[in-house]
Amino acid sequence: PRSGFCKSNSTFYSKRNPLCLPPNPSLDVTTFISSQPQRGTTAFIDASTGHRLTFSDLWRVVDRVADCLYHEVGIRRGDVVLILSPNSIYIPVVCLSVMSLGAVVTTANTLNTSGEISKQIAQSNPTLVFTTSQLAPKLAAAISVVLTDEEDEKRVELTSGVRVVGILSEMMKKETSGQRVRDRVNQDDTAMMLYSSGTTGTSKGVISSHGNLTAYVAKYIDDKWKRDEIFVCTVPMFHSFGLLAFAMGSVASGSTVVILRRFGLDDMMQAVEKYKATILSLAPPVLVAMINGADQLKAKYDLTSLRKVRCGGAPLSKEVTDSFLEKYPTVDIFQGYALTESHGSGASTESVEESLKYGAVGLLSSGIEARIVDPETGRVMGVNQPGELWLKGPSISKGYFRNEEATNETINLEGWLKTGDLCYIDEDGFLFVVDRLKELIKYKGYQVPPAELEALLIAHPHILDAAVIPFPDREAGQYPMAYVARKPESNLSEKEVIDFISNQVAPYKKIRKVAFISSIPKTASGKTLRKDLIKLATSKL
Ligand code: AMP
Repeated sequence: PRSGFCKSNSTFYSKRNPLCLPPNPSLDVTTFISSQPQRGTTAFIDASTGHRLTFSDLWRVVDRVADCLYHEVGIRRGDVVLILSPNSIYIPVVCLSVMSLGAVVTTANTLNTSGEISKQIAQSNPTLVFTTSQLAPKLAAAISVVLTDEEDEKRVELTSGVRVVGILSEMMKKETSGQRVRDRVNQDDTAMMLYSSGTTGTSKGVISSHGNLTAYVAKYIDDKWKRDEIFVCTVPMFHSFGLLAFAMGSVASGSTVVILRRFGLDDMMQAVEKYKATILSLAPPVLVAMINGADQLKAKYDLTSLRKVRCGGAPLSKEVTDSFLEKYPTVDIFQGYALTESHGSGASTESVEESLKYGAVGLLSSGIEARIVDPETGRVMGVNQPGELWLKGPSISKGYFRNEEATNETINLEGWLKTGDLCYIDEDGFLFVVDRLKELIKYKGYQVPPAELEALLIAHPHILDAAVIPFPDREAGQYPMAYVARKPESNLSEKEVIDFISNQVAPYKKIRKVAFISSIPKTASGKTLRKDLIKLATSKL
C-alpha cells in the first residue's frame, strides 16, 4: 500500500505525497538545492544589523567560499569542517560550500565548555574550524592553544593539526579561480555530522549522507505552505532543527529567513514587527514565554503579520497549546516531531485541520514507514497500540561516526531506526508521542545526556553511585535531577553536588535538583532502573 496501515507486515505508510527524489546518485545536496527554481529575492536578513543576502548573493558567495576552501585551504572530500558560531546568516554559506566539496559539516553548541568542545573535536577530528572572534579563545582553550596576537586570531595553524580560519569575509570577496575542479560526490557520501546522544550514552556524531539531506530537502519543498514565507529563526543552528530548516530547506523553497544571533523574546518580536514575519520556528519553552508575556508583547509590537508557529524538538502539552491559541487567536500552531537521526522526518501537522487533532504531532512524513514495537517483547503492534516508534526511509541516518556499537543498538540491519520514544498511531494515521523511553533529557529543547553527568558525579570522592533523570518543569520542559548514593560517613549536601557539576558543564546541563538514596536501583544486568527513579521523584507532584 502507498499509505495507511498494512496489516500483513504491521507497517504504517505515510499518507502524504510520495517523495520526489532526484534520480542522479552522483548529486551533492548543495547542487540539488541550487537547482530548485528560484522563487524569492531575499534569502537571509541579519536581525541585528539589517544586512541582507539575496539568493543571487548567496549562491555567488557559496561558490567563492567553496573555491577558496578547495584551492587555497586544501579542503577535500571527506574532510571534516567544524562550525562553532552563534546563529548567523553566514552559517548557510559555510555549510553549503563545504557540502558542495564533499566535505563534512559538523557543529558544536556554543554554550558548551571548552572541555566539552574538546571532546567533540577529538571525536570528529576536523581539519578546519570556522568560528567568531568572540569564540576563538574558547576554541583555542578547547585545543589547548593560546592565541598570541591579532594575526593569530585571524588564521592559526595549531599543533593538533586543526586550523582556525577566521577570514570568511575575505573568502567571500575573492573572485573564483575559474578552475572548477571538485571531487566527485555521491549520495552515499557523508555530508554532515551533528551531535546527539541518541537512545543511550553520551553525545555521538550522527552520519548524514547527501542522500539523507536530499530527501529532507525534497520533503521540505513538498510542504508547499513553507514557500514564500518570512521566517524568524530562533532555534539554534548547531542543532538539526535550525541547520536543516535554515541552511537548506528555506533556501530550496525560496523563503526569507530573519536570523537572530541570540534568542531574546523582545528581539524576536521586534524582528517580527520590523520584517513582517509570517512564521516563527521554535521549541515549546519559547511558546511558554510568549504566553507569559502575551499582553505586554501584543501592546508593544505589531504582530499582525504573524500567522503560524512551527513548534518542535520537545513535547507540547494541550494546556500550553490552548493557552497560546487563547492569547494569539490569529496564529496557528503546527507541530513537528523528528530526531537528529531522522533528518526532519517523523511526523508533522501541515494544515489547520491537521493541527486540530489535539495531542497528535501529525501525520508521518512523506517517504517514511513506521512500526510500533513492544519494547519488552519485540512484538510489532497495530493501530492505537503503544510501543516504541521505529522509522525507516531515505532520510534515516545510517549510524553514528566511529561507533559501531551505538549504531547496531539504534539502527537494525533492515534500516529501522529505534527512536526511543513511546508512541502510537491512530486509525487516521496520526502519530501521538506518549513518553520518552530513552535516557535523553531535554532542557528547553537542548539535549542533556544523563550518562555524561553520571560520569562526572561518580568521579566525586564522596559519591558511591549516581543516576540522572528528567524532572518535569512547565517552562523548561524538563531539567536534570540527580539521585546520589553517598559514601558511608559522607554528609555531602545538595548544594555541593549542584556546584560540583555546574563548574564542569554548560549552563543548560546543570543539575537543578538532588535527592540522596542509599543505593541506585538496578536490573540484574546492572542497568539503572530510571523509570523507578522517575516514579519516585514525581510521585509527590
Ligand atoms: P533531537 O535529536 O535533539 O532532535 O531530539 C529528538 C527527540 O526529541 C525525539 O526523539 C523526542 O524524544 C523529542 N521530540 C522532538 N520533537 C518532539 C515533539 N514534537 N513531541 C514530543 N517529543 C519530541
